[in-house]
Amino acid sequence: MTLSSLRQQFLSGETTPAALLRQLAGDIAARDGTTGAYLSHDLETALAEAEKADLSLPLGGIPIGIKDNINVLGQPCTCGSRFLSENYTSPYDATVIRKLRAAGAIPFGRLNQDEFAMGSSTENSALQTTRNPVAPDRIPGGSSGGSAAAVADGTAIATLGSDTGGSIRQPASHCGVVGLKPSYGRVSRYGLVAFASSLDQIGPLTRSVEDAARILQAIAGHDPLDTTSLDEPVPDYVSGLEEGVAGLKLGVPKEYFGEGIDPGVRAKVEAAIQKLAAKGAEIVEISLPNTSHAVATYYIIAPAEASSNLSRFDGIRYGRRAANPSDILDLYKKSREQGFGPEVKRRIILGTYVLSSGYYDAYYGRAQKVRALIRRDFEDAFRHVDAIVSPVAPAPARRLGTCADDPLQEYLSDIFTLSANLAGIPGISVPCGVTDFDGGTNLPVGLQILGPHLGEATLLRVARAAEA
Ligand code: GLN
Repeated sequence: MTLSSLRQQFLSGETTPAALLRQLAGDIAARDGTTGAYLSHDLETALAEAEKADLSLPLGGIPIGIKDNINVLGQPCTCGSRFLSENYTSPYDATVIRKLRAAGAIPFGRLNQDEFAMGSSTENSALQTTRNPVAPDRIPGGSSGGSAAAVADGTAIATLGSDTGGSIRQPASHCGVVGLKPSYGRVSRYGLVAFASSLDQIGPLTRSVEDAARILQAIAGHDPLDTTSLDEPVPDYVSGLEEGVAGLKLGVPKEYFGEGIDPGVRAKVEAAIQKLAAKGAEIVEISLPNTSHAVATYYIIAPAEASSNLSRFDGIRYGRRAANPSDILDLYKKSREQGFGPEVKRRIILGTYVLSSGYYDAYYGRAQKVRALIRRDFEDAFRHVDAIVSPVAPAPARRLGTCADDPLQEYLSDIFTLSANLAGIPGISVPCGVTDFDGGTNLPVGLQILGPHLGEATLLRVARAAEA
C-alpha cells in the first residue's frame, strides 16, 4: 500500500486507520520475530490516536514507524544503546513528529538501529539483531536498518530514519526500498538525538518515490528550535514528480565507478542510467576529484562531533547510572563504561584524539579544509548538471557477522554516501534491480541520485523517472 492508495481507502471507508494498525501489529507479531526491525510498539496509544485521526489531512490516519533516535512524547528512545534502554522516556515530541501529527499521521513503532547511529549494518545495536527481509542471513544495512527492514517486510507503510553519512540511503539500497536524505537544514533536527550535528538529517524510507515526496512535504521547513534549519519556502514536492527527465543533464562521476565496485552493482546502475538516457536525459561524465578523501574526512569530523555530543551521557542527566560509585568521577566512568558499546567507545576515543591540543590542526582542522574542497567539487559539478547519478553502496548486503573485527572495511563501504553529508546536499536511493553477490541471489541494488542544495524537487523527479 502506498500513502495515496491508503488515503483513498480511508476516505471511501474501505478500511480504517484502526483496522490498519491492528493489521500491522498482527504482521509484526507474525514476521518481526525473524526480521527484528521493531524494538517496541504501543498499539493502544496508536489506536487512541487513530480514533481522533482527521482523514482530510494529507497523511490523515497513516501510521509512520520511527527510528529509535527520534523523540516521541511518552515513548522509549533507546538509540539502540544500553545507555537509554532501561530508564529513558521521551519528554517531548521532535519537531518532525509534531509536523507528522499536524499532517494527520500517527507515529507507530520504534525501529532498531546501530547504537547512536554509528554503523552501516545495524549490527552495532546493543539491543537486537535486525535481518534483511529479502535475505535473512544478511544485514539490512544501517544505521537506519530497522526503518528500511520494516518497510521492506511490509510491517510499516513508511518510516523515518536519520542520515549522517548514508544511514537512510544505504539500508534503503540493501532492502530494496526508497530512502531520502534531505539537504542539510531542510528538516529540523530538534528532537533527533545528535550524532554529528553538522551532518545529521532526518528523512523518509518508503515503498515509492511519491511516498517519500509526501513525507518530505510534511516534515520539511523552518523550525526556530533548530538554529541550523533554513528559513526557506518549502516547494510542492509532489506536483512535478511526473515531469520526466527529458532535457535534464545527469552527471556520472567517474570516481564512483572505479576500483572496488561489485560488477553486478555496476551493471545495474549503468543499466538504470541508460534507461534515463532513453527517456531523454543527457548523460555527461563528470569528476568529483576529492572523492578519495571523503572517508578519511568523514571519519575525523563525525567522531569529533560525536565525542562532544555524547559527553551528555554521564549517568546523571540521562539514562543509565552505574551502581555503587566511589565518587563522582567514578560514576561518570562506570556509567559510560557500562552504557556504551564498543563502536561508540571507538568513536569517542577517535573523536577526542583528533580534537585534542596538539592534534587538532593536523586532523580536525585539516578535515574541515578538505570538507570545503568536497563541497566545492559538488558546486562545480552542479554548474553543469542538474543531478548526479551513482551507486549507493559498492556492493549489495553482506552476510551478518562478516565485518565484526574489521571496522575499517565497514567504514570504506560508505564511500559513495558520505560526501553528500559533508557537502550538505540531498540524496536519494531508488531500487534499480537485483543481483547475485557472495552466494546470495536477487539482492537489491540502489541507484543514488544527488542534487544541489535544496534541489529535492529535481532529485525526486529524476528518482520517479528511474523508478518508473
Ligand atoms: N556508516 C556511517 C557511520 O558509521 C554513517 C552512519 C549514519 O549515517 N548515521 O558513521
